[in-house]
Amino acid sequence: MTKGNSALKVLFVTTELAPFSKVGGLGDVAGSLPKALRQAGVDVRVVTPAWPGVLEKVASEGLKTTTLKTKVFAAYDWRIHSATVIKADVKGVPTYFLKAEDYSGAQYPAQLNFWSASPFAVFCMQALELKEAIEWEPDMYHCHDWTSAFLPCALAWHRHYRQVGGKSIMTLHNVAYQGIFEPSPFLEASGLEPWSFSSSTMEFYGQVNLLKGGIVAATAVTTVSPTYAGEIQTYESTRELSGILYQQRSKLRGILNGLDTKYWDSEKDKLIPARFSSKDLKGKTSCRKALLERAGFDTETDAPVIVGVSRLVEQKGFDMVLAGIQGILKMGAKLIILGSGQDWIENGLSQAEAENPGSIKFFKGYDEPLSHLLYAGGDIFLMPSVFEPCGLSQMISMRYGTVPVAREVGGLRDTVFDVDRPEGGNGFTFQTCDTDGMLWALGRAIGRYRDDKNAWKNIMLEGMSEDFTWDKSALLYRDLYQDLMQ
Ligand code: ADP
Repeated sequence: MTKGNSALKVLFVTTELAPFSKVGGLGDVAGSLPKALRQAGVDVRVVTPAWPGVLEKVASEGLKTTTLKTKVFAAYDWRIHSATVIKADVKGVPTYFLKAEDYSGAQYPAQLNFWSASPFAVFCMQALELKEAIEWEPDMYHCHDWTSAFLPCALAWHRHYRQVGGKSIMTLHNVAYQGIFEPSPFLEASGLEPWSFSSSTMEFYGQVNLLKGGIVAATAVTTVSPTYAGEIQTYESTRELSGILYQQRSKLRGILNGLDTKYWDSEKDKLIPARFSSKDLKGKTSCRKALLERAGFDTETDAPVIVGVSRLVEQKGFDMVLAGIQGILKMGAKLIILGSGQDWIENGLSQAEAENPGSIKFFKGYDEPLSHLLYAGGDIFLMPSVFEPCGLSQMISMRYGTVPVAREVGGLRDTVFDVDRPEGGNGFTFQTCDTDGMLWALGRAIGRYRDDKNAWKNIMLEGMSEDFTWDKSALLYRDLYQDLMQ
């Protein structure tokens, strides 16, 4: 345990790590928060599975690796599972990649059952064994989502690890995925005590729910924005799990995600045709022109350009966007969307483009460079999410002087503030989850854009001056770690 002034020791236990094995937001956080925490004086290290292709990516980044002499072991399913530990220094963060047969399949299984869930339980137990191999004992384990939720469960209920003891933090990046599967033969094969399967622990309507177990067993729970921390305690947000989150609320904190502000930087971005800053916005006009040209629109138009970069799923509110197309056109705006996802949204946007070729453009697919052009060249960024644990796109758009129009939900509510509040703000927001609400906020934004160029510039500058670095949030995590040491 940490004594006196020595640094707190925290092991990040994560099944995703950008840029090696990112699937979603968890990968981004695991790839950037540890670095910020080390700068804040916390001795953070990371352990992650070496999924197929991961070690090749580590090599292609030019990182030096060392294979440790001691392996890590986990007893599971009446077998000993061993893994080789490969250490690399990733941007100053000691990182341990576990290489084993268990991690040779798909990173995340399409179907969850005892067998497909096994690598995640094995990984958590090997993470608990790592301290011997690296001769470094963490003060606490920081786990993420259902895929490492077995670790707090093991510390509380495993017949061996509960004797060893230890503290754990569970961060919820996406409560929609919980790691639910049939209890047999998990209960016999996992080493957990039989009493770990009750309605107040891991049992969930007759099934195992690893995330629920992790939430109950962890010493503390965090999620990725303060507003989402409140929302997930309601039935509307998390259905049957809301009762447990409400019951555990005294140990739940919402800490906003940060952004990689070195990467998303309008002054240095090489993926946009011209760079700009809050002091000199000329480059943004060039980006706007380049975007209009790419969309096949009149490049001299003074119409407001609404952009969106998104996964095309229900969560992002595209039913409102599709139903609002006529309203957007009536306001004389252009709409440019980049995204991929569900067929009904892709088809709806393609049809809207076909019917309004001079005003609506849909770029189908995932295109990182093009996303930069949309963020930089747009006037308004549209993000009418139904729910949003944190959201990065609204922060990116503000960094590029593109004013967000967003629904007041989750992390959007913690980052986008309506300019018509008495204290002013950095965007336009609406509450009701419907097309009228979205058009109302868009109408106010477009009115301001057309009628008061000076006010509009001030809104852009307000967004560009926001601090979306990890610095503040890293200190909040450090406070949490310190509180847990009391
Ligand atoms: P979520 O994690 O729910 O998808 P976020 O707003 O937190 O939403 O993060 C989305 C990230 O993915 C942003 O960096 C956004 O620019 C990027 N993104 C989403 N769709 C695309 C796309 N089609 N092409 C390029 N980047 C995309």
